[in-house]
Amino acid sequence: MDIVGKNLQELEEFMLANDQSKFRAKQVYNWVYLKSVSTYDEMTDLPIQTRELLKEKTTLCSISIKDKQVSKDGTMKFLFELKDGNFAEAVLMRFDNRANLTACISTQVGCPMGCEFCATAKLGFKRNLDVDEIIQQIFLIQADTGLKVTNIVYMGQGEPLLNFDNLIGSIKIFREQFQIGARRITVSTCGVIPQINKLADLDFQSTLAISLHAGDQETRAKIMPVAKKYGFEELLSCLKKYTEKTGRRVTVEYVLIKDVNDGLEDAKNLAYAISKLKSNVNLIVYNQNEKSNFKKPSKENVMKFKYILEASGKKVTVRLERGADIDAACGQLASKAKK
Ligand code: SAH
Repeated sequence: MDIVGKNLQELEEFMLANDQSKFRAKQVYNWVYLKSVSTYDEMTDLPIQTRELLKEKTTLCSISIKDKQVSKDGTMKFLFELKDGNFAEAVLMRFDNRANLTACISTQVGCPMGCEFCATAKLGFKRNLDVDEIIQQIFLIQADTGLKVTNIVYMGQGEPLLNFDNLIGSIKIFREQFQIGARRITVSTCGVIPQINKLADLDFQSTLAISLHAGDQETRAKIMPVAKKYGFEELLSCLKKYTEKTGRRVTVEYVLIKDVNDGLEDAKNLAYAISKLKSNVNLIVYNQNEKSNFKKPSKENVMKFKYILEASGKKVTVRLERGADIDAACGQLASKAKK
């Protein structure tokens, strides 16, 4: 049994079943979720005998850090080894000069969506991560760095909405146990319509980001196979319904790729397509990788694109490239994901 992932009640049941006082559960709970210590011996207010019991009968966390790289800009990439020998990656970033620390985490080993430009897609799909594996990424990042993660983005490997129950289960734990506010959590999807509808039916207070990457069906279908199943217009009306139902704005993500979707026509199409969608836009400059034929856009095209969207009344941010020197930037998570 892994301790990281258990709620207070489960820990109490464990303690009582092992002739320990209930109070020990709360101590362990605080060590794990608020202080992120990575060994039982660091839980100094527990009697030795309780620590020995824990060592004998439980594991604290069953995923482990296999490798860590630190970028020149301070961004860190973590490679985790899972129980079955598979790998998953996460990235820790600091934006601006604020105290916010954002972790980008994975929900699947590999990814089944097959986006043409994405490095993770090239790995294919292995399996879903379970709830423990999702939250232990944050636990280990905190334990390793001694820092508190303040924001979480589900933008690592995999399609979060295809691992729906574990996504929702992990968000609940992040909110209740790690005390990370719902508004500081963002889930990104490539546009799996039935799952977005399912999300709209929940009291989902986090932000939904949609990887749109095109202003029309034809362009989208060329780079994102999911568009062949769930068309552009259908996706937009699903998103409109989502914003009406939840009262929340969505974030439109748009990866700018040279000569694919970075032209003036593309910008106009996008501005028109989302004019009635309550949304902010996040432009991402394509991160090149050696296995891909796609290229990044010119700075001029990025600025023009931004300008056209802003002129249409949207709030637009351009995502800064982070950690490119360690392959930690968007869409670059693919190292060693196979044994
Ligand atoms: N499957 C989800 C979560 C992945 S999030 C989704 O599609 O939204 C990762 C984001 O990075 C997505 O918007 C994805 O399209 C984008 N991305 C993938 N490869 C990229 C690359 N090489 N450069 C920039 N962004 C990329």
